[in-house]
Amino acid sequence: MTLEDRPPAPDAAGVGLCATCAHARRVTSARRSVFWLCERAATDPRLTRYPRLPVLRCPGYERLAGADEGRTGEEPREGRP
Ligand code: SF4
Repeated sequence: MTLEDRPPAPDAAGVGLCATCAHARRVTSARRSVFWLCERAATDPRLTRYPRLPVLRCPGYERLAGADEGRTGEEPREGRP
């Protein structure tokens, strides 16, 4: 997946790193609520399936192809979420 395949996140600043992470998937519920699912959490016990936002530090972060720093305003950092 590339950034162009993912719908833009109007709340990117409130989402943090997940907004530009290759392992994130934005999920919209039947009630139109938006959740960010961490698909990497299925295989990485350090991570949470639905991380508390904004995610400012994450050991699993991998930048999505085409993402730029301006999308989140945050620099990726290593460490626990
Ligand atoms: S690996 Fe980290 S930054 Fe990526 S989707 Fe999961 S919680 Fe978000």
